[in-house]
Amino acid sequence: MGLFERIGRQVEQFKQTAKAEAERNAEYRCQACGERFEVDRDECPECGAEAVVARTDEEE
Ligand SMILES: [Zn+2]
Repeated sequence: MGLFERIGRQVEQFKQTAKAEAERNAEYRCQACGERFEVDRDECPECGAEAVVARTDEEE
């Protein structure tokens, strides 16, 4: 495996870890597509729906 390929994999791994961490901390969720956010938004940046709500523990 080449050096750059190795670095690329590490970056990819880091991004996935960061994403998982962000989703764990997320307190808001889009009811339309299920995307999660750490901040409240009027519109979901993923699907554009105005369906972002605060998560509740029962949803897990
Ligand atoms: Zn959405």
